[in-house]
Amino acid sequence: MNVTKGTIGWIEVICGPMFSGKSEELIRRLRRAEIARQRVQIFKPAIDRRYAQDQIVSHSDLRIRSEAVSNAAELQARVDVRAEVIGVDEGQFLGPELVEVATRLADMGKRVLIAGLDTDYLGRPFHPMPELLAVADEIMKTLAICMQCGNPAKHTQRLVASSDLIVVGAEGMYEARCRRCFEPNLAAVHAATATTIPD
Ligand code: ADP
Ligand code: ZN
Repeated sequence: MNVTKGTIGWIEVICGPMFSGKSEELIRRLRRAEIARQRVQIFKPAIDRRYAQDQIVSHSDLRIRSEAVSNAAELQARVDVRAEVIGVDEGQFLGPELVEVATRLADMGKRVLIAGLDTDYLGRPFHPMPELLAVADEIMKTLAICMQCGNPAKHTQRLVASSDLIVVGAEGMYEARCRRCFEPNLAAVHAATATTIPD
């Protein structure tokens, strides 16, 4: 990011649908900070147990160590005062307080990087990502590839029947879709017919 003077902090947000490369981009930036010998601390929500409790793992199997926390308050409590860079994956799962916590950490002079889903399985803004985009210094919106037609994909299509906001999963449960191929009612349709799409 920009060349800065002194120890000014800032917030970078990386958002987009599943499979769009958010974790890859986050890991890339955090690795570069480590190469620059900065003190880096990385968090992810405990709810996300898909691959490992103590690592962020991208769908392309890039990995970086991380600490699991239940919410933004716990994240703040675990921050090492000496940390210069704070990385957070799956920010949409850490609650509304993440906005205040990220702002406070940036005001303390830390570089805060947050990746997360910008919209949910119905295409609605996934809080608190919209608020984080508003307070961020820099934002990146990533796109995936539509699994139906190959166009740029901004949506996360849920393939299994559930009206719960949070159903943690990856391949088989979700796929990336473009605007044209996105079917937000698919989960409801399958719920009505009591069928699920197998992996
Ligand atoms: P995110 O954190 O946004 O879910 P990841 O960084 O974990 O994304 O994974 C991105 C990687 O997923 C891509 O580099 C590619 O290897 C793989 N991938 C699988 N399905 C898709 C897709 N539909 N579009 C783009 N990349 C995909
Ligand atoms: Zn499409």
